Amino acid sequence: MARNKLIIANWKMNFDMHQSSIFLHKLSTKIGIYNNIDIILSPSIFTLQSLSLQVNHNQFKLAAQNFYWRDQGAFTGEVAISQLRGIVQYALVGHSERRNIFHESDKDIRAKVAAAIRNDIRPILCIGETSDERNHGETSLVLNDQLVGGLANVSSEDIEKVVIAYEPVWAIGSGDNADPEQVQKAVKMIRTQVKHLYGEKVAKNIQVVYGGSVQPESAVDYMAVPGVDGLLVGGASLNLEKFEQIVQKIDNKVNK
Ligand code: PEP
Repeated sequence: MARNKLIIANWKMNFDMHQSSIFLHKLSTKIGIYNNIDIILSPSIFTLQSLSLQVNHNQFKLAAQNFYWRDQGAFTGEVAISQLRGIVQYALVGHSERRNIFHESDKDIRAKVAAAIRNDIRPILCIGETSDERNHGETSLVLNDQLVGGLANVSSEDIEKVVIAYEPVWAIGSGDNADPEQVQKAVKMIRTQVKHLYGEKVAKNIQVVYGGSVQPESAVDYMAVPGVDGLLVGGASLNLEKFEQIVQKIDNKVNK
């Protein structure tokens, strides 16, 4: 069965409550409901609950940008993924900004992946090399380490609930986007590594998306890369026209 395409909008730490609500309203009037494409919005955590009441769930799914992996307890300031059940269907895990700015380790990341699955929320596991690692020929090694580290607690029954996001760190927010051949090689490495861990069928079925400075002009080229099932869009997802164009172009490619 063909895998659904995913377009994930990471709003990061942008938009207050009012702005998020207006943006969602405008977006919902500009784009439709598409066959074979899931559009996933990842707004700031404090807006999630009210956006989940506003959103047409046939049109958009919601994702958490972050959460703590324990289900409850004395963890001042944290939000458990169990508290987000019924609000989000997905959660980003291991985004390079979490790894690099907030020093999340592979141990934290694997606990988060497991917590999301335990709570019936699909983790979007972000992995990717820095420019130094790429220049030293370490891309495959880094992707392998992050995959093995992030997936260590995931059983073969659950693995297809995980979405892998290939996000080269040097391409995020930099405008220095990867070229499609680089993405193709990296996605091939990822699927080969998944094959070693979970077998051929999983390697074929698991959804892998690309993220890093995606723009309307580059979206279709990335979607044409074999093995790429979608896009994770940061900066361009904050611009109504750009995000609408990305969605329309992918719809044209996938459904027309
Ligand atoms: C991201 O935040 O994951 C991302 C890909 O951002 P940008 O599109 O701005 O590079």
